[in-house]
Order: sequence, then structure tokens, then C-alpha cells
Amino acid sequence: MSKQGSPHPMMDVPDAIRMVLEVTAKTLIEKDIPPHEHEAVDTVSSNSPVSDLLDRILADDVLMSEPGYPPYRASIMDGYAIQSQQLNNNNNNNEWTHQVLGRVHAGPAAIKTTETETAEGLPSAVYVTTGARIPDTYDCVVPIEEIEESPDKLQIRITTEKASIEAGKWIRDVGCDIPAGSVVLPRAACIHPVSLGLLLQSGQASFKFVQPLRVGVLSTGNELLVSSETWANGNSGELIQTGQIPDVNKPILLSLLESFSKNCKPIDLGMERDDDMESMTSTIRNALETCDIIVTTGGISMGETDIVEDVLVKRLGGTLHFGRLNMKPGKPTTFVTIPTSGNNKRTCLVFALPGNPVSATVCAQLVVRPAVNMLLQYRSEGVPSSVEQMTQNTFVPPEIVATLTYNLKLDTERPEYHRVVLNSSTTLESHGKGLQVTAASTGVQRSSRLMSLRDAQGLLCLPQGTKEKPEAHAGEQYPVLLLDDRHQPIRLRDSLHLARKAPKKTRVAITQVSQDPTKYALRSENEITEQVQRALSGSKSGTVEVVSCQRFSILPNDLDVVIKGGHDVDIWVVACSGSFTYSLDISTGLRKRVGKIADAVALQVRRGASAQDGTAALFEPVVGYLQSENASQGGCILVALPTLGLEAGLGNVRGLLKHALNVARGKPHNHHH
Ligand code: AMP
Ligand code: MG
Repeated sequence: MSKQGSPHPMMDVPDAIRMVLEVTAKTLIEKDIPPHEHEAVDTVSSNSPVSDLLDRILADDVLMSEPGYPPYRASIMDGYAIQSQQLNNNNNNNEWTHQVLGRVHAGPAAIKTTETETAEGLPSAVYVTTGARIPDTYDCVVPIEEIEESPDKLQIRITTEKASIEAGKWIRDVGCDIPAGSVVLPRAACIHPVSLGLLLQSGQASFKFVQPLRVGVLSTGNELLVSSETWANGNSGELIQTGQIPDVNKPILLSLLESFSKNCKPIDLGMERDDDMESMTSTIRNALETCDIIVTTGGISMGETDIVEDVLVKRLGGTLHFGRLNMKPGKPTTFVTIPTSGNNKRTCLVFALPGNPVSATVCAQLVVRPAVNMLLQYRSEGVPSSVEQMTQNTFVPPEIVATLTYNLKLDTERPEYHRVVLNSSTTLESHGKGLQVTAASTGVQRSSRLMSLRDAQGLLCLPQGTKEKPEAHAGEQYPVLLLDDRHQPIRLRDSLHLARKAPKKTRVAITQVSQDPTKYALRSENEITEQVQRALSGSKSGTVEVVSCQRFSILPNDLDVVIKGGHDVDIWVVACSGSFTYSLDISTGLRKRVGKIADAVALQVRRGASAQDGTAALFEPVVGYLQSENASQGGCILVALPTLGLEAGLGNVRGLLKHALNVARGKPHNHHH
């Protein structure tokens, strides 16, 4: 169990999920081919059961076949089809206007007539129902409401004067709904109920779908029963003696993966012993050829039988991206990519999950599922964008914020994904503010205790407990990742819990102090800002933000004026120009006003500065901590140095300053005044 001695750094879950997505995106972008051009394609006949078509992703455009839809001229009304040109003009009172030649109902009905003039000397008409095929000789339908029929229905009279008799009236022309050759459904579209209808109207005999994502699932461990039947047959007593248990991970993961999407096809890779590296290696090697993703469980901790990592990395040449997660449950979760050797060169994603069923299930939801989502989104959206964009757009479990109704002890080792039942209520206080969701624990959270997942609706994201805060308190709110499939997923960028926090910039203030600006020129704001940015962030200035830049011409005795402002920054650079004694006095003055003097760092500043400008060697740089007047803001590191050696002096301690700041801020009670 103990992961002591693990060579892998512990990674925070949000970082791990982003890493999985970034690595996955890279494998897609590197291929640089739209998914539909290389993924294998399934051809499915249009006669197949609806379930074979629904939710699948089209690998190609579906075009409307000839002659378009509708495939014949169809009546829009119940009425009589006539020839618009042959209108008997004297349709006054009692004269029949048309002789009825037949009746055509929607459906296969042959109407033989081609006659337009009947023996009676009247133009002909044919009764048609809505949707009936209009005999070729007619070009217009008169609705039944505008017609009077003879008792034997052999003659009719058009009664309404308003009846608009014109070519095409009340007839849907061939292809008027969908012209032949047009795109009925574009490739990459997912087949929804309505698209099913359109597929069938298209008249195509078969359709090409992107092959589902293939996800192999492998259980490992000598304790796993080959068949759980032996367990269920009341033999458990005997098996207890042999130390065997049923394999629950595989059935859980196979069905969980299937529930993710119709386009995710789990593949049962069976079971491997944990004392047979050869067999495990060859099973996984074979699986690499057929799977996009492989999920293994068990054998990934620090025990003597935990051989999975060696199989993946040493035997199969995989790249390990992380081997430990800062989470409970699921710490040993490992992510490896392995290039496949076949002619279709791909990279297979391998997730080696811990053996305890709760860990395996939670990590499949939390870590594997986003990767599945990204691969599926790529197949259906089809356009690889940047790694960052693909990552931010990937679907992750939906999130809500829930309120605790009682105190919950925090785990002291790691952040916990605590399984919870949710309840929503509208209280008098919350009325009008929407539903309030409360979370209640599912009980003992031991990672072997599958019962803790039985009724769980979500994972409450609890921070690691500390001495200062050992408990989460009733009334506090925490994010909950919803496990229930019925909720719409959200994109990573909208996730409270997972979204990348904007990289924290180092906030810097610059103050120039000068003995006499006429003798010792002050730098322009731009110039000194650029110098500081270059010095503190290396070539790219992205991580440093200069929030203020001031200039003072003062005597050392007036230093309090400069200090007093109190800067809400991380680093405060005081650049000094003046005579040797002036500079010394400034240094001495500043030393009195800051705490936690770091002379070792100051020495490095001096070395850097004097390398840039010899005269800078005369200056005594000061590095120390300045507590902000507003105690909650912490304080900043003050660096005082000569303007002449500014860039090299600061640059020489770039890394040290951040470290010094963390150390100084870590002990907020210790500050000087
Ligand atoms: P491991 O990660 O191999 O150290 O396994 C951790 C715990 O999970 C052990 O108690 C195993 O017996 C148990 N375990 C491993 N795989 C499975 C499985 N497929 N089904 C049920 N329990 C398992
Ligand atoms: Mg094991």
C-alpha cells in the first residue's frame, strides 16, 4: 500500500487531467490528418436496426440520391388533380367542370390514364389523397373543400371562385424538400433521432461511420478468480482458504466505458497474473495493435508483485507521464503512452489504475473519461486545433457547488474525492436564490469499500487537512463532480475544479531613488520596466507584471516616504543612484526597515551587478522581507541595488527571489516591524 520510495512526484489531479489531455491532443495533432481520413470505417446498411445507426459518427457526407426527396410529385392536399390549362370557363352553377377518371390514394397505386379529355367532352380529374403520387398528366390539385362531387363521384365542379388554379398548386415537386446531390448530413455528424429520418430519406443503401473508440480493459492479480461462478456457487468458504476474490474491476470498467458513449467500445482483455511478466507483456503488446486506450487495474503500487509499470515502460517502451496522484482514492494511478509498431503508426494511451475497486472506478471517471471524451470529440468535430484549445474544450464531469450539512474530517495526507449523496432543497433563506444542494457522505471512504460508491451521486472535492484546518465545516461549500450520466458534461475551461488557473504572475514594483537627478540620471519608466522584466523572467516577460514604477529624489533620512506607501506586490525593486556615501546610507536605512535580511542573496545581487558595471561593486545591495501594512496581503521581498548594475544584479537571483518569497511568506508571524 505504502508508496514510500516511489520515484514519481505526486501530481495534483487538475494538473494530471490537463496533462492527460495535452498528451492526447499532441498525439492527435502530430498525426496531422483529419480523423475521417485514416480511422477505420464501418459500413452499415440502411436496413440495419435503428440501434446500429443511432449515435454513430459519420465518416463521410451523406448525399441525397437521385431524383431527390420527395422522389415523386406528391399531393399536399386531399382533393382532385387536374390540368391547370384545361379549365372549363363556364363553371357556373350547375355545370360539372371535370370528369373523374380514378382515385389515387397515397401508396402504391397505379393510375393508367393518360387521357386529359374524356368522352363527355370535359377535362379529366383524378381524386388524390395527401401524399399520393400525382399522375403525370396533371399539374395542379384543387382541395376537396373547393369542390362539389356528383353522387356517384364521377363528376366534379370547382365551386370556390377564389380557387387558385395554377401550375404546381398544392403539389410538392420532385426533390423540393431535398434536392438530389445535396448534403443531407455532413461527415462527422452524430446520428440523432432526426438524422435517422434523414438517413433513410437520402435513399443511400449504406452509410460509413467512424469506428468506435476501442478501449481495452485488463485485470491483474493472482488473487482474482478466473470465474466468479465458483464464488457465487456458495464455495466462498473454500476460496477464503485460498485467498481468492472475484474480479469486480473488469465488469465495472467494461460497463462504465460503454455508458460513456455509443462510440466507445470496451474490449475485454481478460486477466493477467502478477507473477508472469512475459504473459502480461505479450497480452498488452497484442492489445496495442487493436486498442486506442488500454486500462489496467492492479499491480501498480510499490509491492513486490506490482509489475505493471515495468511491463509498460521497460518491456513495452512506454513513456511514463505520471506515476502518482495527489488524491484519495487512487494515488498510484499511472499514465503511460506507448507508440504502436504496426503500419498504422499510432500512440496508445495506457492508464494503469490501482486495484482497489473504488480507486479504479473513481479514476476511470476522473482521469480516463476526459481522454475518451477528447478522442470522441476529435472524431466528431474533426478539426485538430491547438493543444491548448482542444484541452480547454474537452468535456469533463459536470460540477455543482454543494454545502456540507455536518463537519467532515479532512484527510491529512491528500485531497480527497469524497463520495457523496446529494440533496436539494429550497429553504426560506435560500428562496429566490435557486436550489441549495447539500452533500452527505456515503460513509467510510476506504478504497476497497465499493459500498461507498453504491449510492454516490458525486465526488466532493475536499482539500487536504492541515493542523490549522483539520475539518471541513457544516455550511462550507465545496465543488462536487457529478457522476450521474444524465447531467450535461461541461468543458474543462468552465470547470471550477479543473480549469487552469491563469499562471500567477510575479507582481513587481519599481522605485528609483536618486541623490540628484541632474547628476545621476534617472531611467525612463519604459527603460527600467523592461530591464526588470528581462532580469526577472528571462527572455519571456510573460511571468512578470510591473504594477508600479516611481521615482524619488530624496535624502536617506526621508526613506520612510518611499517605504510608507506599502506595496501589494511580490517583489519590490529599489534602484539607487548616487554617490558612494549616499548609496551606503540608503542601504543602511533600508536594512533597518526590512526583516529577514538575506545577505547570501544580496551577495549574489552584488556579484551580478558588479559584473555588469564595475562601480556597482561599491554598493551594498539589500534583500529582505517587507511586511505589508495589510497583514492579510502578506509581504514582499525588497531588493535594493544600484541602477547601474540593475539588470545583471536582479538576473543573478531570479530563481532565488521566488524561493525567498515563499520561505518568507510561509512564516507570517515572524515578521519585523
Ligand atoms: P493492487 O493495486 O494490485 O495492490 O490491489 C489493491 C487491492 O485491490 C487488493 O486488495 C486487491 O486484492 C484488490 N483488487 C485488485 N484487483 C481487483 C479486481 N479486479 N477486483 C477486485 N479487487 C481487486
Ligand atoms: Mg495486486
